[in-house]
Amino acid sequence: MTSEKISCLIIGSGPAGYTAAIYASRAGLNPVLYTGTQPGGQLTITTEVDNYPGYPDGISGPEMMINFEKQAKRFGTDVRYGLATAVDFTDYPHKVIIDNKHEITAESVIISTGASAKWLGMDGEERLNGRGVSACAVCDGFFFRGQDVVVVGAGDTAAEEASYLAKLVNKVYLLVRRDEMRASKIMQKRVEMLPNIEVLWNTETVKLNGEDELESVLVKNNKTGEEQLLNATGFFVAIGHKPNTDIFKGYLNMDETGYIQTIKGSACTNIKGVFACGDAQDNVYRQAVTAAGTGCMAALDAERFLMEREVETIIEEIA
Ligand code: NDP
Repeated sequence: MTSEKISCLIIGSGPAGYTAAIYASRAGLNPVLYTGTQPGGQLTITTEVDNYPGYPDGISGPEMMINFEKQAKRFGTDVRYGLATAVDFTDYPHKVIIDNKHEITAESVIISTGASAKWLGMDGEERLNGRGVSACAVCDGFFFRGQDVVVVGAGDTAAEEASYLAKLVNKVYLLVRRDEMRASKIMQKRVEMLPNIEVLWNTETVKLNGEDELESVLVKNNKTGEEQLLNATGFFVAIGHKPNTDIFKGYLNMDETGYIQTIKGSACTNIKGVFACGDAQDNVYRQAVTAAGTGCMAALDAERFLMEREVETIIEEIA
């Protein structure tokens, strides 16, 4: 196992990680950023980003993330391809293992590992991703104006996605696999009140039709066995997200789904010198712009933490 000591380690390469990198580099923390296995994060699987301020004509997700990376590198961030595979936050400084073979000892760690949308795992879902299949109504809903779409799920996310889409599209079919929704009462009420959302109870997806683009969706009532072909060109999977935080379990405070809990008004975690930003700690907003905002907070908190430690060390040496 190789090893090295650094001042600031950033894990993850979405908008949160790169924003943290820009701020940390400019503050002279010489950050090293590991990209993870999906460099650029979730935005690299989005087609057009139209809601990030500063891009009046929109920008493609992958292009935007290349820009984020370029900007971080311009200020000296050491961007490396690699995956954090284990951590040890028991003692200070913190230890993080990369790709099971490189040990980093870091005075500060910024976690920006993001979250991944859960998928149904059915045929065509991956092939048609970005061509009708999506996991983000706010990102992709605009492309389905005036069309019919399907939303799968019955939690708050599904209710929110369906309500958002209802304002844009002709009709939303909400596929609920049981005879009740898990979503909060208020969100269910919102769904009920929108006349162009039709809830299909006890209904599951059988097949996504279309070669290059989604053309229709075959669904089945799991009580009666009756099948129905929906002429939908959009298929939004909203069955939850999973934060990519497994390796931090046992060290950091998390909610029951694994979202890291930060101290209100900051990016600080329960461990000194470990900060969290972006979707790894946010199950409510989950936007590129909010991720970038918390990335900035994490770098500023890390800078303050390192400065305070430096002062404490000097005082200890004098005394
Ligand atoms: P949830 O885990 O709450 O809900 C997931 C839903 O997807 C469930 O209804 C589940 O069905 C359904 N589902 C799971 N797997 C499948 C499958 N294979 N086929 C069909 N349906 C499936 O996830 P959410 O993302 O909705 O919410 C996560 C958390 O974030 C919650 O705590 C929620 O309250 C919160 N949230 C809050 C928001 C807000 O406050 N504005 C907005 C969005 C989320 P079943 O019920 O049958 O298990």
